Parts: sequence; C-alpha cells; structure tokens
Amino acid sequence: MVESTESESRRLLGRLREAMAGDAPGQARLDKITHLIADSMGTEVCSVYLFRDDETLELCATEGLNVESVHETRMRIGEGLVGRVAKYGKVVNTPDAPSAKGFRYMPETGEERYSSFLGIPVQRLGEMMGVLVVQSKDAREFSADAVYALEVVAMVIAEMAELGAFVGEGAALSPLHQQPVLIPATAAQEGAAEGHVWLHEPRVVVTNPIAEDPHRELQRLTEAVEELRVGVDKMLKISENGDKDQLQVLETYRMFANSKGWMRRMEEDISRGLSAEAAVEKEQSQARARMSQVQDAYLRERLSDLDDLSNRLLRILTGQGAETGAELPENPILIARNIGPAELLEYGRSLRGIVLEEGSVGSHAAIVARALAIPLVVNAKRITTEALNGDHIMVDGDQGIVHLRPDETVVSAFRDKIAMQADAQERYASIREKSAITRDGAQVNLLMNAGLMADLPSLDGSGAEGVGLFRTELQFLVRNQMPKRSELVALYQRVLDAAHGKRVVFRTLDIGSDKVLPYMKPTDEPNPALGWRAIRVGLDKPGIMRMQLQALIRAANGRPLSIMFPFVAQFEEFRAARKEVDKTIERERILGHALPERLEVGAMLETPSLAFAPHKFFDEVDFLSIGGNDLKQFFFAADRENERVRKRYDTLNVSFLTFIEQIVERCERSDTPLSFCGEDAGRPIEAVCLAAMGIRTLSMRPASIGPVKSLLMKVNLPDLRKIISDSRHRGDQSVRPAVMRYLREI
Ligand code: PEP
Ligand code: MG
Repeated sequence: MVESTESESRRLLGRLREAMAGDAPGQARLDKITHLIADSMGTEVCSVYLFRDDETLELCATEGLNVESVHETRMRIGEGLVGRVAKYGKVVNTPDAPSAKGFRYMPETGEERYSSFLGIPVQRLGEMMGVLVVQSKDAREFSADAVYALEVVAMVIAEMAELGAFVGEGAALSPLHQQPVLIPATAAQEGAAEGHVWLHEPRVVVTNPIAEDPHRELQRLTEAVEELRVGVDKMLKISENGDKDQLQVLETYRMFANSKGWMRRMEEDISRGLSAEAAVEKEQSQARARMSQVQDAYLRERLSDLDDLSNRLLRILTGQGAETGAELPENPILIARNIGPAELLEYGRSLRGIVLEEGSVGSHAAIVARALAIPLVVNAKRITTEALNGDHIMVDGDQGIVHLRPDETVVSAFRDKIAMQADAQERYASIREKSAITRDGAQVNLLMNAGLMADLPSLDGSGAEGVGLFRTELQFLVRNQMPKRSELVALYQRVLDAAHGKRVVFRTLDIGSDKVLPYMKPTDEPNPALGWRAIRVGLDKPGIMRMQLQALIRAANGRPLSIMFPFVAQFEEFRAARKEVDKTIERERILGHALPERLEVGAMLETPSLAFAPHKFFDEVDFLSIGGNDLKQFFFAADRENERVRKRYDTLNVSFLTFIEQIVERCERSDTPLSFCGEDAGRPIEAVCLAAMGIRTLSMRPASIGPVKSLLMKVNLPDLRKIISDSRHRGDQSVRPAVMRYLREI
C-alpha cells in the first residue's frame, strides 16, 4: 500500500512539475494542478483556496465545483470546513461532510452533492497560505497514505505560491511578498527609520520542491547531513572548555543531527517525490506546528533547536544564507524573530532600525537598542515571514508601526515625519552648549544614562553634564560568562577616561527580575520583580559585589568615584553595602592601590519604603537617585513590562507627583543631593513636571537631552507648580490635560 502511494505521489508530483515547467499564466497553472490532483486521486473535486487577506479565503481554482464560483466564493477563517482547516492548521478528513461539525453549505459551488471531504492546510514554515481540498460523491475516508500524498502536494503548492507561480494574467491574487503591509507592533525605542530589510536569519527559498531523480536527492541529503554533523562536531570541539549552556545546546544539535527518526522521515519524503530541501522544510514545518502547541518551555526550546538545525541544513543544501557573504543593504533595518544583546552589539550602529517578531520592551536587546538609540519595535507579528531581504521598509518607533513595502502616500507622510525630526535635531544641536535654565531662572542639570562603551561618545555629542546612571549589568548581560576583575578594571577605566573628569555614577550590578545572567543558575521565582534582585543578590553573594567594587576603585586609580546601590528598600541594606565599600577600600589600601580622591556612595530610591526611611538614612547616604521605572511600578502595583496595566497609570498622576514632591522635601531637609534617572526623565512633558516638583537633576538617554532642555527653557516652574496644585485641589486624576493646555499656550 505504502509502495503504491509512494509511486502515486511521485507520479503526481512528476506531473505537477511538468505543469509548472511551462510559462503558462498563474490561473492556468492552478487550474491544471486541480485537474491533475482530482485525476490522480480519483475524486470528482479538487479545489485550492488561498488567503486573500489575513481573514478571508478565496476559491482560486477548482476541478469539479462550479467554475463560475472561482474568485467569487469566499469565506472567513474558521467558517465552514475549509475555514476550519485554515484556522487550526489541521487536516479534516470525513466521509460525511454535510453532517460534519462546521459544514457550511455554499449553493454557488454545488458542493452538497459531495459526501467525503479531505482538507489539507497549505502552509510554509508555519505560515498559513490556504487550503487544498478534495471531495468525492462516495462516502469514503481517505487513507493515511492519501493524506500524506496530498500533504506533500500542498507543500509544493505553498512553495510555488511563495515563488509567485500563481501570479499573472487571469489570476485575481496579488503576488505574495509584493503588497504593502502595515504591521502593528509595540514601540520599544522611539524614532523613525527608513531603509531596507536585512533578515538576521535569511529565508531560504526552495526553488525546486519536486525531485527529478530521487536517488540523487537522497545522496544530496546524506552529504548535506554529513556536512552538518561535521560542522556541529567542530563547534563542539571549539566550545569544549567553554560555557556550559552553550555546550548543552550543541549537544542537543548533535543529538538531532544524528537522529535516525529525523533522517528516516526526510528520506521517506524524498522517496515520495520531494527534493532534499523540500523534505527538510516539510519536517521543519511540522516541528514549527508542534512548537506552537507545546506549552512546556524546555520542549519548546528543543523544538527551536531543531528549527535552527533545519535552517543550517537548508543553507548547506541551497548554498543560501550568511555563508554567501551577502552585504548589508544601504540603511539596513534588521528583522529577526528575536535577537540576543551580543548579536545586536555586533551589528552596532550600522543599523537604522530593528523590528522583532517577538521580543519585549524590557528585553536585553531592547536595552541595547535603546543604548544605541536605534528605533526598535517588538511584537511585530509575522514580520519574518512577510519581509524579504532588500524590501523597502519604514519603522515608526514612536507609534510602534511597521510599514513594509509602503505605497507612495505612506512614504511621503513618513518622510515628512523624518524631516521634522531632523529639523528638531538641528535645533537641539544649537542649544547643546547652553545650560537648561527655565524662564524663572532655575537651573536643571541634565545627565545621561549609559551602560555600554558605545554610549560614551554621546557624552560630548549630547551636551550631557555627566553620566547620572551607568548600568554596569549590561556588560555582564552581553557575555557568556562572568567577566574577570581585570576586564572590568579596563572597562571602567575606559569609561572614566572618556568622561574627561565629568562625574560618572556607577550603579552596582542590578540583576534579577528581567535581567537574568545567562551563566548564573536561574532562580524560579513566582514574582521576580519582587524577588531576589539587585542589592539583595549583592548582599547575599558578596563575592561578586566585592569584585566589582575592587574593579571600580582600581579603575578610578585616585580619581573621584561615585558608586550607587540599586533597589535599596531599607536603611540596613544601604548600611551593609556601605560597610562592604569601606572594607574594600581598606583592603585596597593595604594592597597598595591608589584610593579615590573623593568617594560618594549613593542609593537608588526605587521602592516606596525608602522614601519613609529614618532621617538618619537621608543624612548618611551621599546622594539619592529616583529609579522612576521601578518606583512607579511599585507605587501603582503595575508591572512595568505588562503593557496592559502599565499604561493605566500616568506618571503625571497627581498622587505620584505628590509622592515625588515629598521625596524632594525630605532630601532638602537633610541636604541630600537628589536626581531622577528613570525613563520619564527623558520625556519632555514629564521632565518639566518633575522639575516643577523640585527635581534639579535629571538623567536620561542621550537623545532625550535636546528635547528636554528645549522644553525646560520655555517653561516657568512656578506657573507649572500652580497648575499642578490647582489640579490637585480639583481632585484631577492626572495633571496632564492642564499641563498640556499650558504648554500649548507658551
Ligand atoms: C529605574 O528603575 O528607574 C532604573 C533607572 O533602573 P532600571 O530601569 O535599570 O531598572
Ligand atoms: Mg530599576
């Protein structure tokens, strides 16, 4: 039986190849395909439905149904049996279609006459493209072999659709990957960017899905798998003494590469008529389908390893991909499913924009993109399947929108936006050397946040007066292993050198919560944001903290040094950390290292509790910096990474501003220098309100300094204070509307 289906599917594929070889118009090809399939399967009907848009399927060709209904009959995803196949990506095989769940009678097609129904999803690497259906009058259930044969054919149809084989005269479908697409996403780093698609992992295009000579294809597969195995073994050898996690991944690769089951399935696919690459892709598609259904994180990762391995194998077979030495296009916009911070750093500033299909606003990649000031959007659904290398693309990092292959109107509107931003940049450059002095004469110090060496040139370019927050954990996050003390000394030294005497506040390691070091044992906590993080880790694992403190002292080498501890929730934690600093200083003195000529030790106020610490704490701490990102999430009990709840609470909420004002007052009473270094410091409207509440030092991304300074120079703080206090008396929830009215008038 298998033998007969094998040869049947091979014969069918052979006939399909002939049908495709000529240069007939797209519609004629589809018609021929449906005819061939019906003929080979011995069914009265064969139809192909393809997606017209995300929601609608259209009957594009049929043998057996009413030809008048071609391009007329449409259905929504989920509607009828065809819609059900498309919605769930699963085969529907029934001998009695009219009584099957979801059946919808479509009089125009005359399909009530057919009893059995076999619907196969037409999909390519998890991308649903349509449905292939055969129907017959006799009530039969199609055999597993028949289903298999049609699955193979469906895959070839998907491959052909991808290559635009059905486009042309007479076909009502637009070519895939040529239409303009608007993809809504989530904004993660503002800015507008125009450029060309650069796929981090290039799509491999299979141009020869059907095998001419199965023996030759088997041989090609065997050779390619051998090359893959040798490659994996080589990688394993190189990483032998390296990182444990990486080794584990490679071991999994090796296991898959040697998997007999995987190999056998691909060989079977070839014997049924597929080319070697189509066989790899078929197995990959199935792994992806499984991946979307598996909940278990470990299993998902293994399936994604297999996906990665299949990509490597496809690249070997087709010779496509990174090894071809393709060059970045002009103004490259990086498209990836997800990307690690280290890989992103390798691209560096050559990128104009980044679009991630997954990713999150708080991911490490997002932190790096922000540090590099590259517009970034995340959650851009289907972008890796929609975009092709070189496609024209526009990324709106403010609104979180991607325009792929935009039409003329979008292009001109978008270019206006970019021009306006460029004008604004010029204006900001003209005030770079000026101080941020408000109308009423208050001076606000503007500092920048940093974390990478790549940030430091901005110290001169942005007009920042220093670094108010150096996030030291970024250097730990972008590595595969714990950095050595000597490496940290060299790094901090370079930071201080580049600052040319300007103040740099080094925040000690702030890990935990969303910042998980790849080489540290993960802690499975129910609420990581409220869990073992930042100074809590530092105090429990003093070894790392001491190593970092030593590195800072040695890097300063006699110069002034500012150290800040993150996430201090109570006085005692600060005292304990300060004691570590004193002990380290003493040890360094004994070892003969130069000690900082001036040492400040501060804390971040990121939990409401610290605002109510004893007066003595405010006396003892050398300075405080409000970490508004964390403080706000704990003040409102709203996760900063959860868009749904985060957006409900405005920073300009009267209660939050009142809280900030109280912190300012406490600091004033004890003469404790205070700054604000959360993201809100870099948002002009929020920044002027913080200034109105009495904050005189703001630390922000370098790109925000111009816009913030420009607005500060226009406002009168007593006026703003009055507006805020009136708002409070009225019982407003947020001062934003009143402040906006004021800003529009100045
Ligand atoms: C903050 O919480 O506001 C802050 C500056 O720290 P991070 O964003 O790194 O948690
Ligand atoms: Mg924080």
